[in-house]
Amino acid sequence: MLAALLLAILGQSSFPGPVVTSQGVWVDSRAIGGFTIYAQFPLDQVEELIDGLGHLAQDIQSALGIELGQRPVTVLLFDSQREYQQFLRREFPDAPYRRALYLERSGRAFVLAYRSRELATDLRHEATHALLHTALPMVPLWLDEGLAEYFEAPPGDRVFGHPYYKTVRFWARLGYVPSLNKLEQIARMEEMNGSAYRWSWAWVHFFIHGPVAARQELTDYLRTIQNYGVPGSLAQRTEARLGSLRTLFLEHFRK
Ligand SMILES: [Zn+2]
Repeated sequence: MLAALLLAILGQSSFPGPVVTSQGVWVDSRAIGGFTIYAQFPLDQVEELIDGLGHLAQDIQSALGIELGQRPVTVLLFDSQREYQQFLRREFPDAPYRRALYLERSGRAFVLAYRSRELATDLRHEATHALLHTALPMVPLWLDEGLAEYFEAPPGDRVFGHPYYKTVRFWARLGYVPSLNKLEQIARMEEMNGSAYRWSWAWVHFFIHGPVAARQELTDYLRTIQNYGVPGSLAQRTEARLGSLRTLFLEHFRK
């Protein structure tokens, strides 16, 4: 049904302008930075957000040193929670309910969200998942969520302005270092609780903004995955290259 519905959307060449499809009215659309966006409200109302989305792929590529895929991502933006919920119930009845979602169906990537105060954050988070999955045959859960949490912040807040930053620094000053080995062993989404999200973000921050060699190791690790190799443990690889991760993590967050 989704395929038919999207054909109904994609078959329309009359954008911009209201288009009635089986799931309602899309009043605007835009193709930007690998995303094709359909919205139930005029996109100029969220211009800054759409601009940021246009730069997201480039931000991710520069931070991680990998090329992202060419597979297009379809973004559907709903005017209200009600419209969003109705659509989900009809088209993705097996999807878990969240404020925004990244989904794959028949090899196609979708990001769904509705207009709310959290739209910008939600959209950057789910769009990050979508872009990572267009580039990599698999993404370890902790890293998938850690990167989505990292890039969900607006660009100016990613280094020092993320809500997790203060908490992680507080714990680092007390000498606490979350175990990257343990995060790497998380295999099911249900195991990703609030603190797992925060510590995953912290390790991503370390890899992106910590020692240059750590970032290079992350790039090598991701390229191994991209080439369908067996990457092994990122924690073990990085320790073999740089020495004690515990010491380096504390240095990074105590700075
Ligand atoms: Zn996520």
